Amino acid sequence: MEVDVLKRVPVREQDPKVRATNFEEVCLGYNKEEAMAEATRCLQCKNPQCVKGCPVNIDIPKFIKELAEGRVEDAYRVIGTYSALPAVCGRVCPQESQCEAKCIRGIKGDAVSIGKLERFVADTAREEGVKPEKAEKKNGKKVAVIGSGPAGLTCAGDLAKLGYEVTIFEALHKAGGVLSYGIPEFRLPKEKVVDCEVENVKSLGVKIETNVVIGKSITIDELLTDEGFDAVFIGSGAGLPRFMGIPGENANGVFSANEYLTRSNLMKAFDDSYATPIAAGSKVAVVGGGNVAMDAARTALRLGADVHIVYRRSEEELPARVEEVHHAKEEGIIFDLLTNPTEILVDDNGNVKGMTCIRMELGEPDESGRRRPVEIPGSEFTLDVDTVIMSLGTSPNPLISSTTEGLALNKRKCIVAEEENGQTSKAKVYAGGDAVTGAATVILAMGAGKAAAKGIDEFLSQK
Ligand SMILES: Cc1cc2nc3c(=O)[nH]c(=O)nc-3n(C[C@H](O)[C@H](O)[C@H](O)COP(=O)(O)OP(=O)(O)OC[C@H]3O[C@@H](n4cnc5c(N)ncnc54)[C@H](O)[C@@H]3O)c2cc1C
Ligand code: SF4
Repeated sequence: MEVDVLKRVPVREQDPKVRATNFEEVCLGYNKEEAMAEATRCLQCKNPQCVKGCPVNIDIPKFIKELAEGRVEDAYRVIGTYSALPAVCGRVCPQESQCEAKCIRGIKGDAVSIGKLERFVADTAREEGVKPEKAEKKNGKKVAVIGSGPAGLTCAGDLAKLGYEVTIFEALHKAGGVLSYGIPEFRLPKEKVVDCEVENVKSLGVKIETNVVIGKSITIDELLTDEGFDAVFIGSGAGLPRFMGIPGENANGVFSANEYLTRSNLMKAFDDSYATPIAAGSKVAVVGGGNVAMDAARTALRLGADVHIVYRRSEEELPARVEEVHHAKEEGIIFDLLTNPTEILVDDNGNVKGMTCIRMELGEPDESGRRRPVEIPGSEFTLDVDTVIMSLGTSPNPLISSTTEGLALNKRKCIVAEEENGQTSKAKVYAGGDAVTGAATVILAMGAGKAAAKGIDEFLSQK
């Protein structure tokens, strides 16, 4: 295959018109010939900036070299030293602002398509049945991990590789955290990718107990005393949705993005063979402009609705990844920018019948550095919708903090933990991921899980 070193090997995608009607994956990924061709574009830099851009410092040139020479399993082993979830990260990491943003090939021409190469390596390893390597023997110490999202899975996997006996306690009936219940099937297939990477973590010897709500079924103190765990890692995420506090928000047909996506992903509302459908709506407004808003909007579209994104700032300030906004537009989502809801209109039966909005303009920058949206007096109008999905951000659920004495929180109600080792204010208790940072990214949660595994190992090795 001929390669123009300045240009990426293009990746195949489903046609926008076709994919807007199905839940199949949008991006189809590289085949081996394409992946090896793209891998040859890497300069094998002596001082690889891409590695500095990766929050878990994957040896990117090393895995790309193995791939360029056709050794996919060796490439997988290189990535596996740093990441327990390569097929997930290859799909959902914001590479354009991390490794690829720093890629030296990108100074003149396109950056190497690192994420798509990672995805190819992980997918091929899975198809060929390659498994991560287990610890040779157990060290007799027990660690409990709360939550099976990327932070918990990474922490558990790293500890299991060091010989610890690890049990993950997960509140939901399915492991994976946001990877399972939040990010939609068309960006991150569940059975093929998420379930398989969870199985890989289990194959290291990690036990996962689902339907256990820490703080209700059992407390952290009980895990440490009655159940004999030597340390606990909290990776419980930030799953509590925010609302606007405007009139009508309690009406039937108003969802948080989390609920809407959970019903679709976890309860398979999109699949006619399941008995758990959703009141999907035919005219949907999604309020917010982040990745979660794009996911909710594109899910509603696939469930058959006309969808508007309502966002109070302009396109420039949209917090979602450029790729997600581009995909949403291609699929036919309408963007009502510089627009803010003021009231949800409700009919006599308590159902949404419209949403009053007001036009905004941008004023001076606020504390976030972005220009503050200011209402334009008299510009109210009604948006004709029957469903509203609020996607305004999330914060950690207070259940764990309210049932664990001595666990310090910051003013945003996130758990306070040391960045380098995850240690909280409570002895033997570590934390990381969204529970500590507030809603962030998969790779940052994984980085925090890794740091905490190292911190727990250092602490328990002294005993
Ligand atoms: C819709 C959506 C799309 C996103 N898209 C992207 C993306 O494209 N790229 C990206 O990098 N990031 C994305 N993110 C953010 C990313 O998914 C999160 O930052 C990441 O999952 C955080 O990982 P975590 O392990 O800290 O928490 P989570 O993934 O939230 O996992 C926490 C787990 O803990 C469990 N839990 C909570 N409380 C308890 C309890 N008391 N007892 C037992 N278990 C408990 C929860 O059920 C959950 O399974 C997205 C988020 C959402 C919601
Ligand atoms: S910076 Fe880019 S070109 Fe250099 S080693 Fe990393 S991926 Fe290859």
